[in-house]
Amino acid sequence: MSSPLPPPPPSRPRTPRPSGRGTAIVAFLVAFVLASVTTLAVVLVVDQVRGDRDDDRADEGRSEEPTEEPTDEPTDRGGDPVDVPELEAPTEPALAAAVSEPREDSVYPEVGDPGVDALHYAIDFSWFPEDDAFTATTAVTFRATTTAERFQLDLAEHLDVEAVSVDGEPTDAFEHDGKDLVVDVPVTADERYVVEVAYGGPPQPVDAPTTRSDFEGVGLQRSDSSDYDGWLWTMQEPYGAFTWYPVNDQPADKAIYDITVHTAPDWQGVANGVLTFSEANDTESVNRFHADAPMSSYLSTIAVGDYELTEDESDSGVPLAYWTPSGDEGILASIEETKDALAWVEEKLGPYPFDSLGSVVVDSESAMETQTMITYGNTGYTLSPEVIVHEIVHQWYGDKVSPNDWRDVWMNEGMAMYLQMLYEAETLDIDVDEYVRSYAADDQAYRDEAGPPADWDPDQFGTSNIYVPPGVMWHELRTQLGDEVFWAMTRAWPYAAGDAFVSTGREEYWAWLSEQAGGDLTPFLTDWLLGETEPRTTF
Ligand SMILES: [Zn+2]
Repeated sequence: MSSPLPPPPPSRPRTPRPSGRGTAIVAFLVAFVLASVTTLAVVLVVDQVRGDRDDDRADEGRSEEPTEEPTDEPTDRGGDPVDVPELEAPTEPALAAAVSEPREDSVYPEVGDPGVDALHYAIDFSWFPEDDAFTATTAVTFRATTTAERFQLDLAEHLDVEAVSVDGEPTDAFEHDGKDLVVDVPVTADERYVVEVAYGGPPQPVDAPTTRSDFEGVGLQRSDSSDYDGWLWTMQEPYGAFTWYPVNDQPADKAIYDITVHTAPDWQGVANGVLTFSEANDTESVNRFHADAPMSSYLSTIAVGDYELTEDESDSGVPLAYWTPSGDEGILASIEETKDALAWVEEKLGPYPFDSLGSVVVDSESAMETQTMITYGNTGYTLSPEVIVHEIVHQWYGDKVSPNDWRDVWMNEGMAMYLQMLYEAETLDIDVDEYVRSYAADDQAYRDEAGPPADWDPDQFGTSNIYVPPGVMWHELRTQLGDEVFWAMTRAWPYAAGDAFVSTGREEYWAWLSEQAGGDLTPFLTDWLLGETEPRTTF
């Protein structure tokens, strides 16, 4: 995730970073650093900062709750729905590009199932803020990877399944047990099926795999703050897409998406990809998005609220879409920094790997690199240029190439954090070596807290150990190999599989890096990523 850098404390004091080892830092540098202490400290909590600012609101919300029992029945809105065109079926080449090698996750084996290779999700989602529940129908086109008596998807326990069909045939042969939706229909290896599920329930997240008490959960969230009451958004790393659609919720399985969102007439639904249909009448507003680049489920996103759309284009010709709260010029001005941030990242990493780049601002305190539609929380930090750079870097590192197992989330965060460090150093006009050393000062503390960057405690997902030590590692590797070799490999890796959008693991990555470096990097990478002790730096 980009996101998730560890939530700021109560338990973690925002200690000013370069401290302790910085005795050689000259006075003006100290002044610079002190001036940016807030930035630096928050940097470490980048993407998934979830503070406790909502506690008061939550309390207020509770006291205002109506006394009658909430109902799951949608309100009768009267009027005719928008005439939405039939969804075009994905083409064969599109489905072929979405073939993945699903696997059981080594960190979170209970989520996802390697028997299913999802190829396409067609999600039709309705949310009207006066209701307590959303309703949805999702058709999943998948390839069975093995011959079996049944197959299963993830779908949150708090959602009700109304109907299931397989290849157009309704069936009662399913169980929704916990978060597992098990369909007792036999499947044959390498055959393709379409399972359609009608379901609904309250928009709410599930527990996040972290011990932090200030983490609000993962998945679909409903805002109850006064400015954004009833708005929906997601933060779902390492999982949680199953809180709004039936899914094989593991990052090795990439698929293409069509997401249609129905909401109140003056609201808008937003999702990954490009807007292909948009219409409203007195009854509802309907937006449809198409994401044609195969995507891991944790990178999918949906947001619903009173949005306005501003369009632009990058200097390199990428269409840019900004979905910001209607009338909020300040937020729009922040998010328009995307254009310069993308140009800065393209200078480092080469051409942007997707056909479009959107941004949607939500009532969160995190930011998340959701593919081609980045989700930004509405805080000064999550809307800052350095966080925008971080999330854009993820479109190469994390989205075009994704880890196939959560143990390797450092592959995403290390490079996003490293480029964020470079951007910050440049913006603050601080020597890069000095600046990265200031981050490195906490490396050992992060390892002690949650484990090595590639062998961490599963109950502490997304703490600083997956961000900062691998970020520092890249600077050390650059120092050892020189700029030419380092930047050539850094640009080449996201395209190592050509134009394909793939998930891969450390074995392939380490072998590839060694090849590029002209020598075996395994000892170096092992020390940095699996070591309990912070390796020595030479810069
Ligand atoms: Zn990140």
